[in-house]
Amino acid sequence: MNFESLNIVEPILKSLKEEGYTTPTPIQKEAIPIVLNGTDLIGCAQTGTGKTAAFAVPILQKLSENPSFDRKRKIRSLVVTPTRELAIQIEESFNTYGRYTGLKCTVVFGGVNQSTQTNALRNGVDILVATPGRLLDLMQQGYISLKDIEIFVLDEADRMLDMGFIHDVRKIISSLPNKRQSLFFSATMPPEIVRLAGSIVHNPVKVEVTPSASTVDIVNQFVYYIDKGNKNALLIELLKDEKIKTALVFTRTKYGADRVVKVLKRKNISAEAIHGDKAQNARQRALSGFKAQTTRVLVATDIAARGIDVDDLEYVINFEIPNISETYVHRIGRTGRAGAKGTAISFCDAEEITYLKDIEKLITKRIEVVNDHPFPLVDFDPYKPPKAPSAGNSRPRSLGGRRSLFPDRRNVRR
Ligand code: AMP
Repeated sequence: MNFESLNIVEPILKSLKEEGYTTPTPIQKEAIPIVLNGTDLIGCAQTGTGKTAAFAVPILQKLSENPSFDRKRKIRSLVVTPTRELAIQIEESFNTYGRYTGLKCTVVFGGVNQSTQTNALRNGVDILVATPGRLLDLMQQGYISLKDIEIFVLDEADRMLDMGFIHDVRKIISSLPNKRQSLFFSATMPPEIVRLAGSIVHNPVKVEVTPSASTVDIVNQFVYYIDKGNKNALLIELLKDEKIKTALVFTRTKYGADRVVKVLKRKNISAEAIHGDKAQNARQRALSGFKAQTTRVLVATDIAARGIDVDDLEYVINFEIPNISETYVHRIGRTGRAGAKGTAISFCDAEEITYLKDIEKLITKRIEVVNDHPFPLVDFDPYKPPKAPSAGNSRPRSLGGRRSLFPDRRNVRR
């Protein structure tokens, strides 16, 4: 399935293409038609699933298809989200996906001087993204009216509740017109959230995207923090372990897959790539060789890997961390099938840490960190504010006579 088949209009398709989005994520596939249809929605989904585009794309499309004839723009869609970081990300997404629609989106959040925000509001906006406190504040001061809202989004409702915003949210809802479309998103659905949803949406369709618990629980997962430039060397080190009979290695790009294969072959490790640029019979050959274990390492991109079904696959290695968290779950789901034990190893460089954190949110657990490897990032803790990693941080360290780099519980910390 692609975005065309979701009936997305050309100006939005163009920007999605420019962003490199080819396939809608599961939440997008399900939610976009519902929102375009004008139906209320309850989306049970986390950050990392592509949920922002799942609401931003159809909102942009609906507003651009029914332009307002007022000379001055009025706020026709409101997105309320708990944190300023999320608010900024959502506004950026609207402006990215909507760059050819002529619609204007702005963001308001607390903790900063309000004048830039009130100036933007005075110039007129179609879509407003806001955190609750600043929104109410600006409403009270008369800068914002919600009377023209056609589509309302409440994002991360469960976090709103945790952060004590529930009264603010209720006040905001009471200022919305009764006739509107409402989209309600929450990662979890405890009773209080179900009650809150009930007071916002009417005849909603529920869409749920959560990873299958079994995949996440069955597969042993490890992460190695490492500089990008040392990933090849770490892969070679790991593959010195003969326990790894076969491994499926994921890269983000076709080019990346070919490069990894070249590096491995140079070290006499049998490896083949499968990706969209390979002829069907070359892919088939690579896959048969991998299944027969004559090829030890198969390097794949996510799209090419879709058709792969290999029994007894024990190791999945994420050479690069996917930016969509669900892709991670799909990748690691290639191993640990039918009760077999599986291991997923991820190489994470400084730029990929945000993706990894999104993944951990989605799977609701911390992935075990392996520190004891030859290319550590010294004094590196992804949960502390980042220090720019430097080349000096990552000088190879001797293995000290140890033969195996394979994660063992003594070498990991939670
Ligand atoms: P979100 O869950 O909305 O925070 O999105 C997570 C990440 O996925 C963001 O970096 C988006 O830019 C990216 N993303 C969303 N939809 C797609 C898609 N269909 N294809 C590729 N990347 C996407």
